[in-house]
Amino acid sequence: MTDLAHFKKKLETRAKELGARLDEVEDLLDDPHTKDFSDQAIEREQDEVLERLGQSAARELHLIREALARIKNGTYGACLACGGDISQARLEAVPYATLCKDCASKAAS
Ligand SMILES: [Zn+2]
Repeated sequence: MTDLAHFKKKLETRAKELGARLDEVEDLLDDPHTKDFSDQAIEREQDEVLERLGQSAARELHLIREALARIKNGTYGACLACGGDISQARLEAVPYATLCKDCASKAAS
């Protein structure tokens, strides 16, 4: 039996962290740029790093929202490919996992 309350809390905590990180990235990207040309080049590089950070956070947040929706509709913890149970240990490591270990390794190969 999957401990839904435990994973719900885990997902919500992670979602909050990611939300805060996305806000931070947006604030930093909104910073007015300096006029100095060399600074601008550095800032552009930093912006790209920030955007990538933002994108990965946004992607994870999306996966977490989907996992929370699955908790709500009662399909959380079931593998989307084979319908089997995703192991507790796997959910502990990746609480928004959608595939069991077997299907995930098949999908990766
Ligand atoms: Zn499976």
